[in-house]
Amino acid sequence: MNASAAYYSGSKEILVNNYVPSQPDPLQIQVQPAYSGICGTDLHIFNGAMDQRVALPHIMGHETAGVISALGTKVNGFEIGQPVTIMPLNACGKCAACYRGLSHICYQLEFLGIDTPGSFQSFWNVPAHTVHALPSTASLSHAAMIEPIAVACHDVRLGKVTEGDRVVVLGCGPIGILVAMVARSIGAEVTISEINDFRLELASSLGFTVINPNDNDLIEYVNDWTDGAGADVVFEVTGSVASTQTMTELVCARGTIVIVAIFGDPPPVDLFRLFWREIRIVGVRVYETQDFSQAINLVDKKILPLDSLISDIRPLDEIQKSFVDLSQGADIMKILIEA
Ligand SMILES: [Zn+2]
Ligand SMILES: [Zn+2]
Repeated sequence: MNASAAYYSGSKEILVNNYVPSQPDPLQIQVQPAYSGICGTDLHIFNGAMDQRVALPHIMGHETAGVISALGTKVNGFEIGQPVTIMPLNACGKCAACYRGLSHICYQLEFLGIDTPGSFQSFWNVPAHTVHALPSTASLSHAAMIEPIAVACHDVRLGKVTEGDRVVVLGCGPIGILVAMVARSIGAEVTISEINDFRLELASSLGFTVINPNDNDLIEYVNDWTDGAGADVVFEVTGSVASTQTMTELVCARGTIVIVAIFGDPPPVDLFRLFWREIRIVGVRVYETQDFSQAINLVDKKILPLDSLISDIRPLDEIQKSFVDLSQGADIMKILIEA
């Protein structure tokens, strides 16, 4: 069996090597990834920001779709050759979060592809409970986007976006644009704020109203748009201090701010404004099973224009170059690696 994997070895280096795949454990399924997306978290790993968390050499990748190549001896309900995607969360099942039914934010959460080997390899053994069947009609390249789409579904659901809401998305990377798409799919009006020209043009070509806050006054724009009311829901997806200083000015009375971005340092937030308008701030992290199911449905029904987000599909041999391109801010939304 010919198998290769991409090993991150530290110092911004990924080496592709052959390896001998192992059989799945009794409660595991072996998946042959067809396509795997490169995620912002993978870039953090590549750039050394998570060297204390990952064990080197490390195989990254957690946004994947493929087919089942082997079944553990105790696995039922799946068959070899079946198309699947992976919800890459392995919870402990016994912490306070798990007891509350919040296993997606388990206090001992193991994230496949970060805390364990990931999908940038020919054969990936994963716990059977993380495997989700795909409809046979689903495109596997689109299905590799299900994991980030599930993030967006979770964000929009916890933000309580409803039809007719006016929504502002701050930041238009892969997650920001997916949040905008999912919000629009349930009937919200969406404005996207972004400073990168490539992303602005892409969002605009998809029919979104876009604004560059470096060129225009975002607060004034939102006030005009909403007749002085403010937006119903604001999604913070930039992780920037400039954005956290603006977000509280954009939201309506008892409106909602959803914190999607990962902040390394605590940013300044105007708590007076929070008090004055009774603003609700909600944190959101990964997804729950219902979000994953919704994402699978959105892909299967072809509701989101995913082709315009997949900037390129590249072979595993080009993974190093792909990480470098993404790190340098090339005109790319999402790269899929083809196994
Ligand atoms: Zn990811
Ligand atoms: Zn737990």
